[in-house]
Amino acid sequence: MEETRIVNGTWDLSTFKFRIEGSGMRRMLEGMKEARLIGSRCSQCGTVYLPANFYCRKCHVRVDEPAEVSDHGEVMSYTIGYADVRGNPLEVPTVSLMVKLDGSDTWIMGVGQEMQPEDVRIGMRVKVKWSEERTGSLQDMRSFVPE
Ligand SMILES: [Zn+2]
Repeated sequence: MEETRIVNGTWDLSTFKFRIEGSGMRRMLEGMKEARLIGSRCSQCGTVYLPANFYCRKCHVRVDEPAEVSDHGEVMSYTIGYADVRGNPLEVPTVSLMVKLDGSDTWIMGVGQEMQPEDVRIGMRVKVKWSEERTGSLQDMRSFVPE
């Protein structure tokens, strides 16, 4: 069941502090060296985040349990690019995908390769194409290709 929480009160944005928590991203990049995707699971509601989040967006509790996610998943949304940022037509259209990997509750973005733009569909099964030599960077995940 979906739950919405209301936090009453005055929010003084001038004193609001943002916290950038990098441990989840570091954990994911470390796993990517071995072609593994490590996220985090909320112990209260079971939501799995990739990249790992340090708090649950639903329960507002700290999340630090590692959770391994599959490198196979499903296309949830996509964009086909037919022009560059200046509007010039591209010789080869680009495919950008939002993918929900099996075992994760969040989506990640990536480039689609080895697929024709007209064949891309929501619900299409894809898998991560890993770089041959992985260094623990986002480039380790080269693209998504059809399963
Ligand atoms: Zn939760």
